[in-house]
Amino acid sequence: MTINISIIGGGVAGFCLAHALLKHPEITFDIYEKHDEIRAIGQGLLLQSTARQSLRLMDPDLGSYPEEIGGAELKLWTVAMGEGPYRGQLSHQISYPKHERPIGVDRTKLMSKLLQKIPKERLHTGKRVTSVKDSLNSSKRYNIQFDDGTSLQTDAIIGADGLRSYIRHLVIQEWPADKLVPRPSGLWDGRILIPAARARALLKDHISHPLTEGAVMLVGTKGNIYFSLHEDWEYAACIVAGWKEQTASSPWRFPLSAGFLDENFGDGWGMLGKGVKDTILQLAEPEGFFEWDINPLPTFHKERMCLIGDAAHSAVPWLAAGATIGVEDAAILGALLNQVHSVSELNVAFAEFTATQIDRSHTLISNSRHTARNMVEGASTIPAELARNDRPLKDFLFDVDMKERIKVAVSSFLSKAGARK
Ligand SMILES: Cc1cc2nc3c(=O)[nH]c(=O)nc-3n(C[C@H](O)[C@H](O)[C@H](O)COP(=O)(O)OP(=O)(O)OC[C@H]3O[C@@H](n4cnc5c(N)ncnc54)[C@H](O)[C@@H]3O)c2cc1C
Repeated sequence: MTINISIIGGGVAGFCLAHALLKHPEITFDIYEKHDEIRAIGQGLLLQSTARQSLRLMDPDLGSYPEEIGGAELKLWTVAMGEGPYRGQLSHQISYPKHERPIGVDRTKLMSKLLQKIPKERLHTGKRVTSVKDSLNSSKRYNIQFDDGTSLQTDAIIGADGLRSYIRHLVIQEWPADKLVPRPSGLWDGRILIPAARARALLKDHISHPLTEGAVMLVGTKGNIYFSLHEDWEYAACIVAGWKEQTASSPWRFPLSAGFLDENFGDGWGMLGKGVKDTILQLAEPEGFFEWDINPLPTFHKERMCLIGDAAHSAVPWLAAGATIGVEDAAILGALLNQVHSVSELNVAFAEFTATQIDRSHTLISNSRHTARNMVEGASTIPAELARNDRPLKDFLFDVDMKERIKVAVSSFLSKAGARK
């Protein structure tokens, strides 16, 4: 018997799940992406250790993709005070052991690489899902309709349709629609590239510790400046961030002016603040982006529909882990679906997936906000106290054994699926 699964959304989560299903003899999948071509928004993406483990577990080839596309391993994560009474002091530093190092990859290259193994006939671009008959029809299948007027029937739907997910509304019908749309966080960020030599010189003058490599987070009273430096890179990636009043109807981006930057990065930031602001203002159209997340969901599945990736757990990007948890989702759900041999077992697999990932996804959303607050306005805190506040939150990304988590989930699924037979 063949089971057809429709994956809605051609992002990291949807593509990784497709990889996990490639070898299943009874499941066929199709990916539907609303854009005409696969796009990667933003530039760099840090894949944390659990994402790297998950990729390897899905397929050893997949596990080597980050290195193959020229990814750079992150060896050191430093948090230092950018302004305020402790300006220049280190709060904490994480030196990653080799097996736990995150790897920074180019998003476009990652998506192209993931695309290579997905059979062309399985990916359908320019197909925006506009409605789904959300109860199973008489042939026990869902009916999906697209904006080009076409429709099809499918046995199951995976909502991998990101922050503004439509499938989320079908899975969580007991909530009002306005509780399911992106939630304003009050945070904004802006991204620039700075010649690496210039970034190192600015940091050398600012911080009491020579830093030539890794991620450096500078904590302010109303803003944060982040650098990502790698020995082979000509440019350092730099992100500035802060608070700005935001409502559900705010636009997604806004122009960055000198006055606004001065409010967030005042004289207390010294030459480093000035150097970063000058670089931003030299851009043709300097822009800030609002950061959004979603309310933690009560479940990820309903009947034969299941959410993964940002559709299930969009978070503000302060733990650099949204895509990482999406890759974990794909590995866990993929392993469960690889044990499914009949349509009736699908919702058991979806329930097991939810039970395995839901607490972790709630932690991601709340920890990301908590970390943002520490990093944007924690400069008046004693550095050691800031370290205590921040470290345990990061720990949820480390010391996680994905092989064990998947083993436990699969064994629980098998006992439940067996009991239903
Ligand atoms: C500034 C920033 C920095 C970040 N840095 C990191 C980082 O370093 N590490 C990390 O792990 N995460 C990071 N993240 C988070 C990460 O980018 C996201 O978690 C991840 O990209 C989500 O992937 P996804 O596949 O779930 O969703 P998406 O990438 O959003 O893909 C969803 C896809 O669904 C499609 N779609 C939507 N609706 C429909 C529809 N109705 N029909 C058909 N298709 C549809 C969309 O076009 C899109 O292609 C960052 C996020 C931001 C904003």
